[in-house]
Amino acid sequence: MKYPEVRNYVGGSFVTADRPLLDVYDPSSGAVISRVPLSAADDVDAAVRSAKAAFPAWAATPIKERVQIFYRYKALLERDIDALAALVTEENGKIDSEARAEVLKSAELTEFACSLPQIAPGEVLEVSRGVECRIERFPVGVVASITPFNFPNMVPNWSIPNAIALGNCMILKPSELVPLSAGRIAELLAEAGLPEGVFQVVHGGKEAVEAICDHPGIAAVSFVGSTRIAKVVYRRATAALKRCLALGGAKNHLIVLPDADPEMASTNIVASMSGCAGQRCMAASVMVAVSSTDHIIDRMKAVASRMVPGRDLGPVISAEAKTRIETYIAEAEAAGAKVIVDGRTTTVAGREGGYYLGPTIIDYVTPDMRIAQEEVFGPVLVIVRAPDVDKAIAIENASPYGNAASVFTESGGMARYVMERASAGMVGVNVGVPVPREPFSFGGWNDSKFGVGDITGRGSIEFWTQAKKMTTKWNREAGVNWMS
Ligand code: NAD
Repeated sequence: MKYPEVRNYVGGSFVTADRPLLDVYDPSSGAVISRVPLSAADDVDAAVRSAKAAFPAWAATPIKERVQIFYRYKALLERDIDALAALVTEENGKIDSEARAEVLKSAELTEFACSLPQIAPGEVLEVSRGVECRIERFPVGVVASITPFNFPNMVPNWSIPNAIALGNCMILKPSELVPLSAGRIAELLAEAGLPEGVFQVVHGGKEAVEAICDHPGIAAVSFVGSTRIAKVVYRRATAALKRCLALGGAKNHLIVLPDADPEMASTNIVASMSGCAGQRCMAASVMVAVSSTDHIIDRMKAVASRMVPGRDLGPVISAEAKTRIETYIAEAEAAGAKVIVDGRTTTVAGREGGYYLGPTIIDYVTPDMRIAQEEVFGPVLVIVRAPDVDKAIAIENASPYGNAASVFTESGGMARYVMERASAGMVGVNVGVPVPREPFSFGGWNDSKFGVGDITGRGSIEFWTQAKKMTTKWNREAGVNWMS
């Protein structure tokens, strides 16, 4: 094994959890590179106790002082980008340029947290003579962040800098499929000067997540992962009377109108469906081709066929994921859809054990097929044909998900028409991956997000803090009335 057994991080030290171990794979070779413990309720409890002990001093530290840690942390992410990106590539499989972009995105998220003293000060107003109302934001306490496999560095950093800069102490529960990056994040936060106990890592799966949801010492839980588990976590955490923000899966529709710029549309759509091997919650999943768009589809075929797995896209996360994706494709084909770019026969020389799948485009898919409805989470794009834009919007609206949607057109009026009607929290025009960048917030609608607020940017401030409303009167001459 290249890496020693992964350990939890509690109270500023790495600790061994004496629990069953799960193998950690390098998806590009199928080799076991480490083992991760499946922590239990006692391990979560130890982390909560440590976080609780650190909380009073950290909450009492002025925010301007707290963010100094994150200025340093951002510089450390940049200093170590080569190694951090290499680790992401090793445990997740994505190619180097994607892994670097992920780490740079972590730095951008941290930059936003550094600006929180400017963005999140309180409010004050003299509401009547001598009487003042003021709102101050307080941290909620010990919070937890549960993250998925597809961005081992970036998704933890969606919550870490903001939640901690706003005065909370955090327990991170990373995906057991990609546990290595979390240890490096803990080390860098410590190097940046974060006091012991403010940040902990508890590894594991279902049991650890359930313990987090149930633990009375945890006040808030953020979750990012599939819709099935988002629902479980949201129900369980809120049943335990915690605040919870649970981001789920996606089925993003790109509506392509005949007037779209063929070059821009084809390159953006293929990049969106194949980037990170399609394992992005913002990936293009369904292209709704309105009327005559064959000239764009022909270009997409050419762009996708030129891509070389192993160089331009990485493997999917596991052998099971590869089989699941291939099953979706075979089922659609059997139901009459036409595979116009087929990535199923892909092998990468020297990495025959890797879980590679080339970009796959399937035309003439109908909205009733499973592949058009469910999240495939691989480099697969289905094309559903629609006679007009209203039918295309109806197809998008029928999806239970609502993470992202995009329209490709040269008409500003049509772009606005689709953006207003798409049932998704993040919409784009001529953009394959309409991720809102800081200070804008990340978060979908419908079955792609449960809870109020967003996980990044300004939208996260409400989630990671509680507002105290203070009313003071210093004017002795002020009369007494029913509001006094
Ligand atoms: P997942 O739901 O399988 O796992 C997410 C987390 O839940 C992990 O930490 C895992 O350990 C835990 N978990 C797994 N099974 C559990 C169970 N039965 N009970 C309790 N906890 C459990 O998701 P994944 O496969 O790691 O990630 C891919 C999914 O995440 C996709 O659906 C993708 O769309 C979604 N995702 C969404 C966003 C977003 O912003 N909406 C971002 C990234 C990924």
